[in-house]
Amino acid sequence: MSRRKRILFAISDTGGGHRSGAQALHAALLQHPQGRDIDYDTIDLITATGLPLLRNAPNLYDQLSTRWLPLFNLFFQLTNGRRRVDTIAQIAYLTAQRNIKRTLDEFKPDMVVSVHPIANRFIGHARATYHMPFRFMTVVTDLVSLHASWGDPDADLCIAPTHEGAQVLLNQGMPADKVLFAGFPVHPKFTACNLTPDMARQILALDRQRFTVLLTAGGVGSGRLRELVIALNAAYPEVQLLVITGRNATLRNELQRLNLPSHVRIYGFVDNMEQLMASSDVVVTKAGPGTLMEALVMRRPVVITEAVGVQETGNITFVVERGLGAHSRNIRDIVQSVGNLMDPELHATTVERLQGAVPRDGAHRIANIIIEQLHMTPPTLVRRSRLVNIAELPRWMRRREYADENRRRLRLFSLSLLDNLRQQSGSTFQFRHRLRRKNRKSNSN
Ligand code: UDP
Repeated sequence: MSRRKRILFAISDTGGGHRSGAQALHAALLQHPQGRDIDYDTIDLITATGLPLLRNAPNLYDQLSTRWLPLFNLFFQLTNGRRRVDTIAQIAYLTAQRNIKRTLDEFKPDMVVSVHPIANRFIGHARATYHMPFRFMTVVTDLVSLHASWGDPDADLCIAPTHEGAQVLLNQGMPADKVLFAGFPVHPKFTACNLTPDMARQILALDRQRFTVLLTAGGVGSGRLRELVIALNAAYPEVQLLVITGRNATLRNELQRLNLPSHVRIYGFVDNMEQLMASSDVVVTKAGPGTLMEALVMRRPVVITEAVGVQETGNITFVVERGLGAHSRNIRDIVQSVGNLMDPELHATTVERLQGAVPRDGAHRIANIIIEQLHMTPPTLVRRSRLVNIAELPRWMRRREYADENRRRLRLFSLSLLDNLRQQSGSTFQFRHRLRRKNRKSNSN
């Protein structure tokens, strides 16, 4: 009997979007007729590398996105180039390869689906180096401003969430036959949620009459949520605010200490986002791709507060150009944009534009592709050296790498020389020993 197929999702908890993407695909796969006969696992491959900085990536991202955003953006810009990504990934892979191999070996996947750009190169390198027989797909979880690490030609297929994103991948050098537009992996629970605002408010024990605004800032709860809640509550005291602080416990405590009225609800990390969105008239959010796409799929007009990181900047244009919401830079303008959407006419026309604005079944489309890919044989790969291809490195790095490589060769040479000597001396000793024994025998005879 043939063993059950295995799919491994490679993610990292840098923000909440990558895990959400994997969960969306997993849920869609379980709804596929062949999906229940497959084993699944999800692994934070970035922390599994064990490399300094990367092994703390989720915490580091929390800090960078809440306190050190300019540093994060600088790092993004400095590394945003195909050759730069290749070089950095090759060097990092040198140190991380054993941990990556061990991680992949533990699950023995038939297919790896990467939903994190930093994981891509590691997977491709490990597959080629150790000749691992799995198929490898990437599902892009940013919309438009894709970092160069998304475009990985080692992947068998790369799923783009938007047409703009597909074009960026081609510009990054992805072969055209490896790029496919299939929409964003929004969890099927959002598409399946048919609750009217009234029904959802009843389930969540909310006020059923008030205009309701959902405020969220990704899994980390970054940005200026505190100031925004105070300003919105002061401007529209009758409006019901549902504030999701995500993993930001400090923000949650701060907001709870403000003694806001009971129709301002403060939540921590929630797992019923679809119900909270269903009960809202407007969603106010940072430009996180996951939250934006979920709101658009649920046909809720959005007010974008800011892009947390360069990778989110294109998301603002994506929403504003299609007339699906507004972007306001400062608190006063955000409050104004929310006020504008309280006008029933503007609200209704925006909701109308939201019909069919983005594919609602992205997760199911991608799940179908994953199943198709799973039944294809893994590509025949040329075995790649375990070491960095030094010729591909820039000159300033080559000198150092050559030095390391020469040192390594010298060490191997000395070890093999010693080994040879030991073997030779061993055999010489044995030969003399045998000779002496023979002589002794012949003398005694
Ligand atoms: N999310 C959630 N519960 C929360 C906060 C966020 O389930 O309390 C989910 C949200 O629905 C979305 C993801 O986390 O799927 C956030 O992704 P996004 O791309 O918007 O931002 P990121 O956190 O990745 O920066």
